[in-house]
Amino acid sequence: MRTTKEETKRDGLLESPWQQAGNGVSSGVLTDQVYDCLIVGAGITGLTAGLILQQAGKRVIIADLRTVGFGTTGGTSAHINNFADTTYAEAESAFGEKGAQLFADAIQEGAALIKTNVDRLGIDCDYEYKTGYIYAETDQEVKQLDDIYQGMLKVGIPAVYNEEAPIPVPFKKVLEITGQAQFHPIKYLMALRDAFFKAGGMLSENTLIDKLESEGNIHSVLINDKRISAKRVIYATHMPPGINVFSFRCAPYRSYVLAVKLKDDKYPDAVVYDLQEPYHYVRTHVINGEPLLLVGGNDHKTGHDDPAKAFSDLEEYTRKFYNVSSVKYRWSSQYYVPADGFPYIGQIPFMADGILTATGFNGNGMMLGTISAKILADQAIGVANRYSEIFSTSRIKPIDGFTEFVKENADVAYHLVADRFGIPETDSLERLVPGTGKVLEYDGKKLAVYRDEQGNIQALSPVCTHAGCIVNFNTSEKTWDCPCHGGRYNTDGSVITGPPTKALQQIQIN
Ligand SMILES: Cc1cc2nc3c(=O)[nH]c(=O)nc-3n(C[C@H](O)[C@H](O)[C@H](O)COP(=O)(O)OP(=O)(O)OC[C@H]3O[C@@H](n4cnc5c(N)ncnc54)[C@H](O)[C@@H]3O)c2cc1C
Repeated sequence: MRTTKEETKRDGLLESPWQQAGNGVSSGVLTDQVYDCLIVGAGITGLTAGLILQQAGKRVIIADLRTVGFGTTGGTSAHINNFADTTYAEAESAFGEKGAQLFADAIQEGAALIKTNVDRLGIDCDYEYKTGYIYAETDQEVKQLDDIYQGMLKVGIPAVYNEEAPIPVPFKKVLEITGQAQFHPIKYLMALRDAFFKAGGMLSENTLIDKLESEGNIHSVLINDKRISAKRVIYATHMPPGINVFSFRCAPYRSYVLAVKLKDDKYPDAVVYDLQEPYHYVRTHVINGEPLLLVGGNDHKTGHDDPAKAFSDLEEYTRKFYNVSSVKYRWSSQYYVPADGFPYIGQIPFMADGILTATGFNGNGMMLGTISAKILADQAIGVANRYSEIFSTSRIKPIDGFTEFVKENADVAYHLVADRFGIPETDSLERLVPGTGKVLEYDGKKLAVYRDEQGNIQALSPVCTHAGCIVNFNTSEKTWDCPCHGGRYNTDGSVITGPPTKALQQIQIN
């Protein structure tokens, strides 16, 4: 096994505070082998599943395109809740009372599984219970809050209205929900990785898994000239690669977080959420002995709004309500909103039997990624799991979700067509400011062009290799982001995250 002291990287230029806890790459030596399970992706979903399976006596290999925690798990804000972005009232209206109850049970079981791992493995990951508050600032939000409250009561989540809360924002009504928690996601993930190694698991980092070959019940792939075969494959990639139904059932969103130092000591000892559109949340985390206020939200569909503006709006909001001394960290990451509000977990439709995935976690992937890992591990072993049906990847639903589904896909169709006509013809290469990128027309060709700080130009085809939409430049993370399905690329064209597996084509310009 080899260990280097590289820092944990994540899928953007900006640094999250979690990266401080990175302790590099570890791996065994790859040989041609048949494993019980190949897990693609070393985020919270993949590592939790890997550990469960390896500890159940299965032989597991985890492969990640980059490094452990490189994906959204390295850019999360790491709240552990017993409620979710899909409210229990919404869950009931789309999936009935039984569906809402199963969803609540799954969320809570995911949260409990994290706590069990923390206790059982003795993980030092800043795990702390906190009281949660959701507050309403307008009459319409009060109505929303009442629905949330009723939904919680129905599924047995204890919540009470309170007169007071540690919130500097004037509010009309506030709901107090005890038993929330927070942790340091990378410290947790690294401990899962170490436990996985201890149980005999194998990890291959910097390994893109693209096309699998399936013969009978065995699926195989070449990694560094070694044929790695497995009886089951789990795509724990947040979104499975390639063209598949999930790209069309889940919409990619970017979400923003600041970690700020305050001039006073008014760090809330709670996790707090508003109901605005776009929403905000705050919590406190001690990083390197220093308390920091984490303020997050301002989400928007990937590739649609200006990330720099999302950050500046978030900072303005924070400064309005808190006595900010300095902004220590700012970062953004991506999550996927499922069309009908529930995650998709299980067999990937139209792929060979035994190729599984989990996606569509919304902003709740700590709990849903963890419970998905358990569901997928059960499915891989052939054990019944009570959540398999409700989260089935082939469910034909939804009562309410259909309109959302149509809306998200109409939006994709718009970008496929309209972006081709919308490229500014007049923008010239000369006017491109260092450190920025733009899709422009040059010499009769549409190009995605980035000028680095030294003035060097990197030109690429702007056509996303996934489904052919035109990428947009993300000024904050310095990436090319696809507005359709969330494919994201480095300025050299290489894939960072999302469903594409092929780089943007590099184009030579004079
Ligand atoms: C800003 C933000 C805040 C959030 N806050 C919370 C929160 O407070 N609580 C909560 O519960 N959830 C939260 N979420 C959601 C949660 O962070 C995610 O749902 C969760 O981290 C997803 O974990 P994952 O393991 O499924 O995917 P990831 O962590 O994205 O891991 C996927 C891995 O797969 C690898 N990969 C991808 N494609 C390939 C390939 N073809 N071959 C090999 N490897 C591949 C990637 O490199 C990556 O490491 C938040 C999300 C965002 C964006």
